[in-house]
Amino acid sequence: MNKKTIFLDFEEGLGKNYREWTREAVQDFINLFPEYKDNFEVKNGNVGYHDIETLDAIVAQNKEIYNQRGQSFDEAEFWDQFKVTEPGKCHASLSKQVALASKDGVLDIQKLKKLQADSVGNTYNRTSPVIIGVSKQPAAGNIRGISSEIGVNISAGTCERLGLSREVLKAYFKDIVIHELGHTFGAANENQRNTVENLGSHCKDPNCLMYEYSYTGDSFNRRHRQKKESPFCSDCMESMRYHMEHDLKFERKGQEAVEVENTPEPLPEKADKDRKFKKDLRTVFKTAAEKEGSKYKENIQKQNYFAEITHKDGSVDRIQASSASRISLSAQDKDGKEKMPDMERFKNLAEYAHNQGKKISFGNIKTPEFKARLMIACMEHRPPVEMKNAPEINDDFLNSLEPKTRQKLQQQGKENNLPLMAVKGKER
Ligand SMILES: [Zn+2]
Ligand SMILES: [Zn+2]
Repeated sequence: MNKKTIFLDFEEGLGKNYREWTREAVQDFINLFPEYKDNFEVKNGNVGYHDIETLDAIVAQNKEIYNQRGQSFDEAEFWDQFKVTEPGKCHASLSKQVALASKDGVLDIQKLKKLQADSVGNTYNRTSPVIIGVSKQPAAGNIRGISSEIGVNISAGTCERLGLSREVLKAYFKDIVIHELGHTFGAANENQRNTVENLGSHCKDPNCLMYEYSYTGDSFNRRHRQKKESPFCSDCMESMRYHMEHDLKFERKGQEAVEVENTPEPLPEKADKDRKFKKDLRTVFKTAAEKEGSKYKENIQKQNYFAEITHKDGSVDRIQASSASRISLSAQDKDGKEKMPDMERFKNLAEYAHNQGKKISFGNIKTPEFKARLMIACMEHRPPVEMKNAPEINDDFLNSLEPKTRQKLQQQGKENNLPLMAVKGKER
């Protein structure tokens, strides 16, 4: 399952109340998405643990990027944000970053954001964590919070200066955390009908927390009088759900998929010692082997499921699984050369996924032929097995298949009413 880790990083000396409120706000935000709850993980501390080698690589990346922009990259400043934690390991410390981005006790929050982006370099991807940095320093321009896809920065110092009562301050501060998280998780998406572009995409609905002026007293008071279930409007909620499902590849609870791969290498073993998942796999593959008159051999000593089906001609199918939902299928001929598994094994995979009540997800598979056979097996199964991340069936794809597979795929595509030219890009 794809997890998004949210790291809570506090400037040294930040009040206990702000730490508590940040934690509460993050939890409130996650609770808005019960279907994706298991995809989130909240941790304390800073994420930026790197070894020196990684940092050297990031410096090189940054130099190139800055060069292209005609700017120079301040390498000394870059290294200044890191603290050596153990030999060879460093981490970016929020306190050091805030100190670098401050002048006369006032924080330049844009600069802080830039430092943080630089410390990650080009390494950001959809599984990268989100960092929530809360500083006690007030920010220049009375900026309360700022965000990007890598994280959120909030100045508790600015909020503190507003002179609010403790109760109001708490609600206000939490709103800021949630608003900024909204940006990070795709709220007020530009394609949404209800948005305006101003310092990031904002919502036109004055009752929504993504409203441009949501930090004003008027807007705050109105929202809190309403006591709605979600502080966001339904359009913004929809944008975030869309982002979570399509960009972050979160999986809805109860909708897990069996991920199929095609690697002859052993799959990494999972830490838990539960081997019960092997039974369901054995039922399918052992039965299939017996029916064909092939030899089924399983290495039951291994933590992973590991079975070989040897055919009369000497070729061997290899099925491995590290859990009930991660399976790899490969095959070799009698001389030990890797070959394409027969259609029968793909049918077994579809049957197994069906028994588990799961979809089939296309994992690490290099050849179009393998993908096509897996697709055919899913579509031929009665009822058809749902597919996830299946390839687009275009001419290039079809032309790279064996003639028999191509013909079958085209035929199945028609019978299953599958658009032979899948729509590219976003679905809305
Ligand atoms: Zn905003
Ligand atoms: Zn909205």
